[in-house]
Amino acid sequence: MPTAPIAVTVPIPALTIAPARVTRGWGAIAQAGAELARLGKRPLIIGGDRSLAALLPPLQPILEQIGAKSTAANYLPDCCESSLERLRVAAKSHRADYMIGTGGGKALDAAKLVAHQLKIPIATIPSSGATCAAWTALSNVYSESGAFLYDVTLDRCPDLLILDYQLVLTAPTRTLVAGIGDAIAKWYEAAISSGRSEQTTIVAAVQSARVLRDLLLQKSAEAIAQPGGPLWQEVVDASVLMAGVIGGLGGAQCRTVAAHAIHNGLTHISASHGTLHGEKVALGILAQLRLEEMIQGSQLAAAARAQLLSFYEAIGLPRCLEDLGLGQMTLQDLKQAAELACHERSDIHHLPFPVSADQVMAALVSTLAPCRSSFSPDGGPIAAAPIYTGEEVTQP
Ligand SMILES: [Zn+2]
Repeated sequence: MPTAPIAVTVPIPALTIAPARVTRGWGAIAQAGAELARLGKRPLIIGGDRSLAALLPPLQPILEQIGAKSTAANYLPDCCESSLERLRVAAKSHRADYMIGTGGGKALDAAKLVAHQLKIPIATIPSSGATCAAWTALSNVYSESGAFLYDVTLDRCPDLLILDYQLVLTAPTRTLVAGIGDAIAKWYEAAISSGRSEQTTIVAAVQSARVLRDLLLQKSAEAIAQPGGPLWQEVVDASVLMAGVIGGLGGAQCRTVAAHAIHNGLTHISASHGTLHGEKVALGILAQLRLEEMIQGSQLAAAARAQLLSFYEAIGLPRCLEDLGLGQMTLQDLKQAAELACHERSDIHHLPFPVSADQVMAALVSTLAPCRSSFSPDGGPIAAAPIYTGEEVTQP
C-alpha cells in the first residue's frame, strides 16, 4: 500500500498568484468608487510626474464622491531607500489607511513596498503598459541614480488592480513597446530556469509564457500601429496582466535568468538611465541567446535570435547596444555591467552552463552577429519561425 510522504518541517513558501480583485476597461477609474471604498478612507497616492498628472483629474472626483480624504506624493528620484523613507513619513503624517500606486514600474514598486512595510492595503493603477508591476508581489529597489540594488518579495499581490485603457493610452507608445520586451522575456527565461520542471503549476507557468510570446509576436506590430484599437488592448492585457499571472503561478522557482541579470548590470551605467526596463531586458534576451550560441553551439538559440531581431525591428525594440544609446560606452563601463551581471548570486547562473563576465561582454557586443541558421530572419512570417524551446542543442 502506498504511503504518504512524511510531513517536512522546512518552510513551505506561499504562492502569491494574483491581485485580490482586478477591474479593467475603458473608463474603469470612473467606476472604481465602490472597489476603492472597500480599502479605506484615507489613501496616499504615489506616482511620478506624468502618471500623477494623468491620474488625478479622473480619480479625484471619484474619491470625493466616496468621501475619501486623499493626498498625493511623488516617488522620485527613484524607488530608492530615501524615497521609501520619505513616502513612509508622508503616509504616516496623512494617517493613510491604504495606498494607491500609479505609474509604469518604479512608482508602482515604491507604492507596493511602502504599503507592505506599513501593512496597509494597496490599489495599483498602471499608467502605461511598460511592465507587469501592477500585478506582482515583488518590488525592485534602486540607488538614487537608478542602479539596481536588490528586490523585495512582498506578502501578497495588490488588493486591487484597476486597468483603465483610457489612462494607459495617455502614455508614449515606447512604454508599451518596452512592456512587450519585458513580457516576452518570461518565455526565454522560464524555458531555461523551469522548462524541465514537472510540477503542475510551473508547467502551467512555462506554457503560458510560450503562449504569451506567440501572442505578442503575432499581434504587437499591428497593436502599436493602432493605439487604442482592439489588438492594442489585447497587447496591453498581455504585458500588464498575463505577464503577471505567469510570475505569480511560477513563483520563486520560475526564475529570471540572463536577460534580467544583464538588465541589472546595465542599470549601473549612467548612460543607460534614459532607457526603459523592458528595453534593457529585450537586449538582455538577445545577449542570453548569444551566450547559448557561443557556449553551447545552440542552433535553436541562433534561430530564435534571428526571429527576435526581425520582430524587434518591426516594433522598435533595441537590437544592439547602439540602439539603446550605449554605442559610445567605454570598455570599462561594459566590463562593469558584465561583472555585475555575473556576481555570485546573480540569476545569470540559472543558465545550464558556467558563464564569465568576458563571455557576457562578447555576447552584448555581438547581438547582431550573423545567425548561423538555416532559418532566415526575412524568410517568412514570424509565426512560421521555429519554436525556441530552451532545450540544450548538441553541437553540429
Ligand atoms: Zn522585468
